[in-house]
Amino acid sequence: MRAEFLGGVRTVTGSATLLERDSLKWLVDCGMFQGGEELEKRNRKTQPYKAPKLSFILLTHAHIDHSGLIPKMVREGFRGKVICTQATLDLCEVMLQDSGHIQEMEAEWQNRKGKRAGRGEAVPLYTAKDAEKSLRHFQPVGYDEIVPLAEGLKVRFRDAGHILGSAIIEIWVEEEGQERKLIFSGDLGNSNQPIVRDPSIVEEGDVLWLESTYGNRLHKSKEETVQELLKIVREAIAHQAKVVIPAFAVERTQDIIYTLGQSIRRGDLPPIPVYIDSPLAISATEIFKKNSDCFDRETQEILSGGENPLDIPGIMFTRTTEESKAINEDSRPGVIVSASGMCDAGRVKHHLKHHLWREESHIVIIGYQAEGTVGRRIVDGAKTVRLFGEEIAVKAHIHTLGGFSAHADQKGLLDWVSHLHNPRLEIFVNHGEEKISLELSQLISERFHFKTTVPQWREKRVLFTEAEQGMPEREVEEEQPPEEPLSVLLNRLDRTYKRLRRKMKKEKKKGEDVSRPGWWKQLEEAQQKLEALEEEIE
Ligand SMILES: [Zn+2]
Ligand SMILES: [Zn+2]
Repeated sequence: MRAEFLGGVRTVTGSATLLERDSLKWLVDCGMFQGGEELEKRNRKTQPYKAPKLSFILLTHAHIDHSGLIPKMVREGFRGKVICTQATLDLCEVMLQDSGHIQEMEAEWQNRKGKRAGRGEAVPLYTAKDAEKSLRHFQPVGYDEIVPLAEGLKVRFRDAGHILGSAIIEIWVEEEGQERKLIFSGDLGNSNQPIVRDPSIVEEGDVLWLESTYGNRLHKSKEETVQELLKIVREAIAHQAKVVIPAFAVERTQDIIYTLGQSIRRGDLPPIPVYIDSPLAISATEIFKKNSDCFDRETQEILSGGENPLDIPGIMFTRTTEESKAINEDSRPGVIVSASGMCDAGRVKHHLKHHLWREESHIVIIGYQAEGTVGRRIVDGAKTVRLFGEEIAVKAHIHTLGGFSAHADQKGLLDWVSHLHNPRLEIFVNHGEEKISLELSQLISERFHFKTTVPQWREKRVLFTEAEQGMPEREVEEEQPPEEPLSVLLNRLDRTYKRLRRKMKKEKKKGEDVSRPGWWKQLEEAQQKLEALEEEIE
């Protein structure tokens, strides 16, 4: 069987792997690339995902860097099922539509700018409507159930302990009478994370795709992190100041609600205003409450004690823009939790604009900040950052608390790998910045003697065929800026095609074999590309 690394390699976003066994094709994850124009261009090059030919998509969890291109697949002709857990389905319902809205808004903004610059029209990657349509393809499965998907192919979703509904996916594939097992770690959770359970242990497998977000770092303990946060909040209270926490709408926001709620209930913090200022986070919190069967034991116990672990006395959920703006008029000290987590979009940008320049304010960064994002610049100590076209001074106290991470750290990843015991296990280290993936890859091969590789983007691999391994083929097409008007190009295409047919006819008359595999393959590819384009225009 074959694998193609379509994303989430040598970068943390765009997770996607194409798997092929004979004519059966499927994807594991179908994430959006985020973090800079160059990387985001890849979101438009989805022809190699072969949307119309996919039988299904296996989805590890709802985060957009894993699920964000699913609506685009449906738009490009994907008619199969998206297999995931129920909580992932529920979260995707709000997250994909939100993503569709963002795509529409971005295209609109580009168009306003583009018109002034005389550029062509920007088309959204997909719309909220596309996202809604794609939800019909989702089919939930339970944790730990073995689900047959095709002849000689079955899967099992195990709890990855990363966010609500997140999964490690085990895939058993039969080929030429032999069964092998692939494991996709998905994003692996941090142990002792609030609300969700710890990652499940996997012991058997032949090939593993392993995430490496924090492959070179150790997190502080959960207890230490909570104490640090409480100290910051107390200091803000003493100076009548605000604490702004940019947080991913899913999981991190609920972790903060849980932590502050527990501290207030125990009397470690006085009751203070806590604003959850993100419509998406509010919807996600509702979904958490609905899926309480995914909670860990500690959280279950709070629930059965009659308390709501996702509620705080004095919490304010602000859905409308007016409510959001009113937060700035509240002069009491308090905490504002808002998305996006990497400070690149959403309402948190308004709060940063309002607070970054104030010396008494506190900004608490609790999640991963990808290269190229505003959050990363703040963490890296920028003196100013640009928000809404305005240069804003960074004078507030900036804190980075790694212990709230929803990802395992280096030790967590190594511990998880240590349970695997097949000496011939091959590991593809993915979902990490290049340098970090390489570091973890080396560490694993030294410590456990497994064969490890950090794949390249668009690399193709034949799995389980010794002779063909280690021969990566790369096909990276660079996008050329258009040099001629579309009409000229189309005419040229017409002429080329006619010439080609004439030439083939001639060859055939001469008695040449025109059905050689090389020609046939090239033509089929051209045909596929045109069809994909046709689908896109519909
Ligand atoms: Zn994730
Ligand atoms: Zn991820």
